[in-house]
Amino acid sequence: MTKENNETPTPIKKGGISVQTEHIFPVIKKWLYSEKEIFLRELVSNACDAVSKLTRLSSLGEITLPEEEKFSVIVRLDEEEKTLTVSDNGIGMTAEEVEKYIGNIALSGAADFIEKYEKGDNNSGIIGHFGLGFYSAFMVADEVEIITRSYTGAPTVHWTCSDTGEYTEKAAEEERERGTDIILHINEEGKEYLSRYKCREVLEKYCSFMPVEIFLEEAGKDSGADAEKDGGDGDKDEPKAPVPINDTHPLWLKSPADCTEEEYRDFYRKVFHDFREPLFQIHISADYLLNFKGILYFPAIRNEYDSLEGQVKLYYNQVFVADNLKEVIPDYLLLLRGVLDCPELPLNVSRSYLQNSGYVSKISSHITKKVADKVVALFTNEREKYEGFWKDIRYFVEYGAIRDKKFYERVKSALLLKLTDGSHVSLDEYLEKAPDTAKDKVYYTSDKVLQAQYVKLFEDKGIAVAELAGPLDLQFISFLEAERKIKFLRIDSGTDALRAEGEKYENEELAALFRKISGNGKLTVKFESLSDKDVPALLNISEEDRRFADMMRMYGGDMPAGMGGAENAVLILNAESSLIRALGEKTASSFAETAAGQIWSLALLAQRQLSADELRAFLATSYGTHERALDGEA
Ligand code: ADP
Repeated sequence: MTKENNETPTPIKKGGISVQTEHIFPVIKKWLYSEKEIFLRELVSNACDAVSKLTRLSSLGEITLPEEEKFSVIVRLDEEEKTLTVSDNGIGMTAEEVEKYIGNIALSGAADFIEKYEKGDNNSGIIGHFGLGFYSAFMVADEVEIITRSYTGAPTVHWTCSDTGEYTEKAAEEERERGTDIILHINEEGKEYLSRYKCREVLEKYCSFMPVEIFLEEAGKDSGADAEKDGGDGDKDEPKAPVPINDTHPLWLKSPADCTEEEYRDFYRKVFHDFREPLFQIHISADYLLNFKGILYFPAIRNEYDSLEGQVKLYYNQVFVADNLKEVIPDYLLLLRGVLDCPELPLNVSRSYLQNSGYVSKISSHITKKVADKVVALFTNEREKYEGFWKDIRYFVEYGAIRDKKFYERVKSALLLKLTDGSHVSLDEYLEKAPDTAKDKVYYTSDKVLQAQYVKLFEDKGIAVAELAGPLDLQFISFLEAERKIKFLRIDSGTDALRAEGEKYENEELAALFRKISGNGKLTVKFESLSDKDVPALLNISEEDRRFADMMRMYGGDMPAGMGGAENAVLILNAESSLIRALGEKTASSFAETAAGQIWSLALLAQRQLSADELRAFLATSYGTHERALDGEA
């Protein structure tokens, strides 16, 4: 700073901020109360803009800057003085410019602002759009000073404005170097921002990728208070170089061809504080027409209880705007993690505008296309890797397919089914390999341990069984059934596929015995030849009934009587089973009922868990049977 005392008393200019200030100031304070931290984003991004404007002039050859010139934005806290200062060595302002840009709140903008406010359209993104960014300072300050000197060399201006909108403007008592200090006299509501911790947190949130180095300093402490610490307290004489808060060249700005896997992973860790490696990423660099950039990561999911919630951070020219803005990014993409920088996006306009904006829908369909292309490219070119990722990405892909027809059309060839033997096939591959009798059917199990007997019967027949156990699967298979005109059948409803050639056998007495044992007089009993002679009986449960029952359970409802339970089941007695044939010979014997009871329980057990009563009865009969058998031997 150069000291240049003015000889004559400075002419002081007084004024009031034009345009209904008495309306605007209380509005700014009250309306944006919950988001008051954004004042820092506004002031720091103005400071960065001031630097950018200057460097642009230099690159246009309009001014010459010293080569060693280093640009920075410094946020300085002074707890004693209760001030927060944002300083830059950017373009600065002349007295006329302060008057023009700061003293006048853009008329139309202000009117719109108030109108919006009065309508109660609570859109916190509005600041900035109406040229009110600077005034957000009044959310936390009762007085703001600007000390600024233009690059033109015009005298330093000292401008002071109170929270009533009254301002004074005068030539400063001392000249400063080119650039601007914005000094906030922090009020009661803003006092938390005098804390270094809080300030840092806010700067990291909004300013992590701004294009000019940002430093945080505290009065009375080392200017390089954020300098890298080297363990002990020593070395006070030799402060290390201060470390900026931000990364001025975020990875998304680099050309994808120049980024290494390691850079992608480091960036992910830094931005999302996740120690797990992401599965893969998509670097979008849409220059032509759309002009936005970003990196989207597929996060690894540790287990099924892991939350499926992602985080997509939206930036506007490297300035953080918001997380997970649903108006810009399709909801299923919010399951991913990433950053998007959309300099063309009118982010500070209302949400309803965003929802209906053609530009926004172009961005979102471009992202959709890129994500789908990547998924299909992995499927086609790196099949093994893709199969390894499948358990982590399937919910995303499936949910995306349901939510967005275009996405589905793009990824449908890459939809995988995991089979009970652990291998993966695409849906198309599954259908191609299916036996002629089941070309449009996909057999699945919801629990390959519980339903192991069915699984084995299918495998023996050479029919692949898919594992679909997750709670979201039901919705997805219904979707595919409608799209592909196919049918998904859980193996206990697909017993038709197990039928084998065999001698016809019917026994009405035996059927009656099972109806009696089951406690369901209306139980349908069928005699069929199953390929495995060792299996005496199987239950067939209608797919529709069971889905309905599952759905009711999922929503916690009571099951209407007669739906989905064994009441609706069909009991298939295996005509090839010697046990069934033997029992058929002796339906009148005293032991027949016990044997039938056990066959019935075991058939139930092969399909679902027994209820407590069923299990108790089953165990009691089993023990009794063994006891009698041993007695008989003795
Ligand atoms: P916006 O940034 O949306 O235009 P602001 O109220 O934040 O609205 O700022 C109004 C204008 O004041 C800016 O466009 C810029 O011309 C000027 N200005 C604000 N801060 C600075 C600064 N640190 N250096 C130079 N000019 C600034």
